[in-house]
Amino acid sequence: MTIDGVPVAGPLIEARQVTRSYGRTPALRAANVSVTAGEILAIMGPSGSGKSTLLHCLAGIFTPDAGEVWFDGRRLDTLSDRRRSELRRTAFGFVFQFGQLVPELTAADNVALPLLLGRVRRGAARRRAISWLERLEAGELCDRRTGELSGGQAQRVAIARALVTGPKVVFADEPTGALDSLTGEKVMDLLVGLARQEGTTVIVVTHDARVAACAEREVVVRDGKVTDPYAGEVAR
Ligand code: ADP
Repeated sequence: MTIDGVPVAGPLIEARQVTRSYGRTPALRAANVSVTAGEILAIMGPSGSGKSTLLHCLAGIFTPDAGEVWFDGRRLDTLSDRRRSELRRTAFGFVFQFGQLVPELTAADNVALPLLLGRVRRGAARRRAISWLERLEAGELCDRRTGELSGGQAQRVAIARALVTGPKVVFADEPTGALDSLTGEKVMDLLVGLARQEGTTVIVVTHDARVAACAEREVVVRDGKVTDPYAGEVAR
């Protein structure tokens, strides 16, 4: 894309007029949102407004009933299931509120898992996993089983696992929802700080204004539509 002949980066990821229902329950109604590379975007809004559904559509986990999802200049929603899961594995990282770690495995093995799935050799995968845990100030947790960790410790491991493959986008759904506010702030600071160092785009669903304050921009979902709280109109 160019403006006055000057090339400008187009959006990295975009939902255009995305509509999605669960049976008869509408969750998204022609929602639009667009995120540029390296941007840290908070998606806010009341419970049940459609935030998680929007995140899942952007990440190619759900396909919309109508509308389009674009990633890196290509339609994402029309790819086959296999291509979408491959894209999720190679280009995306995920941090959820609970449950993304294998409790019986150590922290280092959990973080190494996406690398092993990408056929990185075991020794190299373990070294990279440990170095990411160290960057998350969680190096001492390497050999602890994640089922024994506190919520804040587990989220550091989850963030290391989301970042270890060098994804273009990290999707986070209420990543601090199970943490006390001080721990949650620290976890968000680590996620945002490392994403900025790596140039990773972050899309975070939250209802917590303190989490949203860590982002560069926020949009609000209400009744399945996205609005920009400052522009008072449909978000770009
Ligand atoms: P939020 O993340 O803002 O809380 P969701 O995207 O989870 O909102 O949900 C949007 C709407 O879709 C809500 O009315 C919710 O009840 C409904 N919904 C979400 N998941 C399901 C599901 N698995 N089955 C039926 N309805 C659902």
